Amino acid sequence: MNHPSTERHPAKACHVCGGARFYYLFSAADYRVVRCDDCGLVFLNPQPSDDELARIYSADYFLGSNTEKSSQAVREIKQATARLYLSEISRYCGPESGHLLEIGCGDGDFLVTAQAAGWRVTGVDYSAAACEKARQRLKPGEVFCGELQSARLEAEQFDLCVISDVIEHVRSPMDFLKEIHRLLKPGGALFIATPSIGSWSARLMRQKWMEFKAEHLTYFDPQTLPTALFKSNFREVIVEPGWKMLSFDYVKMHFERFPVRGVTPVLNFLARLLPQKMKQRHRRIVASGMMVFSRKAEVRPQPVLSVIVPAYNEEKTFRALMETLLCKELTGLQMEIIVVESNSTDGTRELALKYRDHPRVKLILEEQPRGKGFAVRTGLKAATGDYVLIQDADLEYDLEDYDGLLEPLVAGRTAFALGSRHGGRNVWKMRQFTGQHGLSLFVNLGHWFFTTLINVLFWQRLRDPFTMFKVFRRDCLYALEFECDRFDFDFELLIKLIRKGCHPIELPVNYRSRSFKEGKKVRMFRDPLNWLGAIAWLRFANIDPMKVVEHKYSVDQTGKSFGSLKDLNHKP
Ligand SMILES: [Zn+2]
Repeated sequence: MNHPSTERHPAKACHVCGGARFYYLFSAADYRVVRCDDCGLVFLNPQPSDDELARIYSADYFLGSNTEKSSQAVREIKQATARLYLSEISRYCGPESGHLLEIGCGDGDFLVTAQAAGWRVTGVDYSAAACEKARQRLKPGEVFCGELQSARLEAEQFDLCVISDVIEHVRSPMDFLKEIHRLLKPGGALFIATPSIGSWSARLMRQKWMEFKAEHLTYFDPQTLPTALFKSNFREVIVEPGWKMLSFDYVKMHFERFPVRGVTPVLNFLARLLPQKMKQRHRRIVASGMMVFSRKAEVRPQPVLSVIVPAYNEEKTFRALMETLLCKELTGLQMEIIVVESNSTDGTRELALKYRDHPRVKLILEEQPRGKGFAVRTGLKAATGDYVLIQDADLEYDLEDYDGLLEPLVAGRTAFALGSRHGGRNVWKMRQFTGQHGLSLFVNLGHWFFTTLINVLFWQRLRDPFTMFKVFRRDCLYALEFECDRFDFDFELLIKLIRKGCHPIELPVNYRSRSFKEGKKVRMFRDPLNWLGAIAWLRFANIDPMKVVEHKYSVDQTGKSFGSLKDLNHKP
């Protein structure tokens, strides 16, 4: 689309999900800030014109270019932040270095630091003056001046791409990510630092947040950026809070340049009180941003859905389920079916064996039943799809609901959907076991109790968190470890996904409850006690995906296998 340079750029569709319903939030510096109603992306609409942006990015845009003393202070801060980023990157990528590309390299502070750490470096920057400075400081090392796309770099040559405080400035973040995907080697890593609208400073300061400015065109958060990465074929995403090295003097300088009512005077007041040494000291703080790590994945002709079917003594329904599943066609998706059969005694195994050679079925035979949770975990390990759906081998759920559940994931509106049996607007539907009114009441009360508990402990507003019908991007599982074997695995999966930042949406599904006589495998009194224990444990369990990834490198070198999180926690 060609705009005259004086014209602002209105968006017809959301940059990430393509939705067209925007919710006006407020105006910042004469620009409208809107939120996509579908995926939650916040962005300026319309974007400033080319002329307006050119005025903003004038020569003195970058802090500290005015005086020698302040530029020295800024340089020190930037290099300290660069070292911090590099140490986080080596946790994610492992100890080896290679060819690094930084887009938006400025006058080269990060590149100089990376070069010292053993990386071969290439930089791209918009500003000719900055490129010239960077070239002088880097020997050897190439620096391209201009937009990324116009640099016309050769494909698949970089092991790592770093974009720090850049993606919020680009007009089309999806095209930008696509170009980075092209430049990375297969499996190459991408490190992004960007302001997060989910950060504490954004929540606290609301529309006065210092990151709202005309040149920040898109405001990501820990849900929308992983979705943008997923749609651009990046996987193994980890979101960490944005650490930065800052000193009091640097922060004060920032707010003098970009004054915020109420903040700038307080800083000036403090500046008179604090001793000089304290004002210069570098501190590692969680700033207003996030750090996001991901890897380039191959582009598939069509996305794949993995359906996990744990089967144990389901002789009555197994065959019907499999036949319906195999007939099921999903628009734009391929399907792999992973059956985990736990050595049933009622003939389910014999039925399962008939599907052994079916091209769409992966059959996993367990030697003994070790619980439904264990079977699902085994299935998840074998899954290769982009999306995962867990399907019980009974017929409590309706396969007609697949399309409705998958649609918001494929469109990029959410990473995780729950098929809700009595959620949404349908407040009337409850469990009914024919002729067992007392039991119905007991089960419904239990449902209400556990739902409230989950909502309060994990800040959710769910109606039916215990549905078996869960659909999510398989990448959400990356660097999560699971240990529950029985029905408590459902809690573990739900809660660990929520705690990792994948917040589920609920969609109504059709559901017919089995009575206990028909073979429901829940034990009335023992299981609820187990669940209570599991929820309490999951509330406080240590979930640290980066630690899991880092641990992988340390065991890879010693040749040992991937340990569980439990082992990790027990290490000194
Ligand atoms: Zn959207």
